[in-house]
Amino acid sequence: MKNQRINLFLLLVALLSMTACESESASTAEAAERPPNIIIIFADDLGYGDLGTYGNPTIRTPHLDQMAEEGLKFFQFYSGASVCTPSRAALLTGRLPIRSGMVSDRIRVLFPFSYKGLPAEEITLAEALKERGYHTGIVGKWHLGHLPPYLPLQHGFDTFYGLPYSNDMIPTPGAKWGPPRKYPPLPLYQDTTVLETNPDQRLLTKQYTDKALAFIDAHQEEPFFLYMPHSFPHVPLFASPDFEGKSSRGLYGDVVEELDWSVGQILNALKEKGLDQNTLVVFTSDNGPWLTEKQEGGTAGLLHQGKGSTFEGGMREPTIAWWPGRIAPGITQSLGTTMDIYATAVTLAGGALPGDRNYDGTDLSPVFDNPKAEVRDEVIYYLGAQVFAYRKGPWKMHLKTLNPYIGEQPVAHDPPLLYQLEHDPSERFNLAAEHPEVLEELRVALQRHLDGVKPVPSLLEDIDQSYFE
Ligand code: MG
Repeated sequence: MKNQRINLFLLLVALLSMTACESESASTAEAAERPPNIIIIFADDLGYGDLGTYGNPTIRTPHLDQMAEEGLKFFQFYSGASVCTPSRAALLTGRLPIRSGMVSDRIRVLFPFSYKGLPAEEITLAEALKERGYHTGIVGKWHLGHLPPYLPLQHGFDTFYGLPYSNDMIPTPGAKWGPPRKYPPLPLYQDTTVLETNPDQRLLTKQYTDKALAFIDAHQEEPFFLYMPHSFPHVPLFASPDFEGKSSRGLYGDVVEELDWSVGQILNALKEKGLDQNTLVVFTSDNGPWLTEKQEGGTAGLLHQGKGSTFEGGMREPTIAWWPGRIAPGITQSLGTTMDIYATAVTLAGGALPGDRNYDGTDLSPVFDNPKAEVRDEVIYYLGAQVFAYRKGPWKMHLKTLNPYIGEQPVAHDPPLLYQLEHDPSERFNLAAEHPEVLEELRVALQRHLDGVKPVPSLLEDIDQSYFE
C-alpha cells in the first residue's frame, strides 16, 4: 500500500515535470518564433552632456533618466561619424560610411541639390529585418538621399513619415542658421508623397510621436522595427507651445525636454501594451553638439569639441539600451558603436550578417548580459574619407585634428597626439613623447583596418554646384 502510494506520487511528479518541460519548450519555441521588436530613437546633434542622466544641470529629462534607471547606460558609445549623413549611413548599414560612398572630404553631407544617396546595393537594417519577417517604419529625418531612388521605401522601410534631410535646409536666405543657399521648400513626406512643404516645425516632434505611437499600435501583433530619427535638437530650434519657454536652459532646453517627453510616450505605450518585455529600445544621437551655434547648440559635457570633430565630443554619444526583463538595469564602460546596433538587431532577429561584405559592428548582447563584457576594443574616427583618429583600449591617437565650422584646414600631427581616455576623457594631456611604444602599437592596428578597406567613389560630391554660389 505504502509502495503504491510512493509509485503514484512518483508518477505524479513525472507527469508534472513533463508538463513543465512542455510549457517551457512551448514558450522557448514561441520566443524563437517571435523575435523582439527593435526601436531606435536617434536624436540629431544632441551632446554627451545634454541629458539629466548624463549630468546636465538645467535640462529636465525625467523620462530618459528613468529609461537609464531601468536600462543599460553606456558611457563610451560612439556614432559612425561626426555629421549627419555618414552617421546615418553607418547606423543603417552596420558599416563605416567609407565603404558605402556616403563620405567626402569636401562636402560633408547630402544636400537638397545632391544627385545621389545611399546605394541600392547596401543592405539597410530595415531590409535585413524585413527579411526576418519584421514590419519596418521610419518616422523622422532620413538624410540618405531625397530623390526617388533613395527614399526610405526603396531601402526596406514599409512606411515613412518625415523630412528627407535636415530641418535647416529651407528657403530662408539670410537666416542665422546657415548660408543663404537656394534651397527648395522643405517637403514633409508620407511614404513617397509630399504632404506639405515648409511644415510648421514647432509641431514636428509631436507629429513624429503620434506617428510612432500609431505605428506601434498597428503592428503590435508582429515583430516590428521602428526607426525614429528626430529632427531636433538640430538648429533651427522649434518646440511646441506646450514646451516653448518652459525650460531654464532656453529654447535648446525646451526642445530637448520635448524630445524627452516623446521618449516617455513611446516607453509608456510599450508598457501599456505589454510589449516592453519583448522590445529593445536604443536611444542615442547621430553626432555631437553643434558648438558654433552657441546657446542654440548643446554641450558635450566634459568631452572636448562637438559636431564635425573627431575629438570625443564629436562622436561619443549619450546612449541607453532598454529592454525590461532582458537587460538588467545598470551602467557600462564597454565600448560600443551605432554599427553594433545593426549587428545586435540582426542577431536578435535570428539572422546573420551577410558574408559578402565587410561589417564594422559586432553583437552587443554579451554586454546586455554582463556590463563588464567587452565586444570591441577599437574605434575608428573618420572625418570625410580619412581616418583622423584611432582608439584601441583606453588609448587614442589623433593623426589629424580639425576645429570644425570655422573655416580652418585640418592640422596633421607627427608624431600623432596620444591621450589615455580613461584617465583623461577631456583629451587635455598629450602623452605621445612618454609612450612611443603605444603609438607604434596603434599605428600597426590601424594599418590592419586600412588594409581591409576598399575605397569606393564618394557619392556626396555628385551635386549641382551652382546652388552653392
Ligand atoms: Mg546631426
